[in-house]
Amino acid sequence: MPIYEYLCSDCNFKFELLRPLSKADEKAPCPRCHKDAQRTVSACAAFSRGESGETTPLAGSGSSCTSCSATSCRTCSL
Ligand SMILES: [Zn+2]
Repeated sequence: MPIYEYLCSDCNFKFELLRPLSKADEKAPCPRCHKDAQRTVSACAAFSRGESGETTPLAGSGSSCTSCSATSCRTCSL
């Protein structure tokens, strides 16, 4: 299952979820404030641009993009 990243617009918390592709676009409950969070695809681009400090990867560290190693990510090929 691919990993998707979600951003809670309420508390600005970013988190990752393992989800089947069919549920990728569904909102996910924020683990911090339990409101609906939207899926975001900006993480890959942010990482590849070298912008640090803006995001906090939850799963592992050191790798450039955990999402992309698992599945296809068009934003990362830039
Ligand atoms: Zn939240």
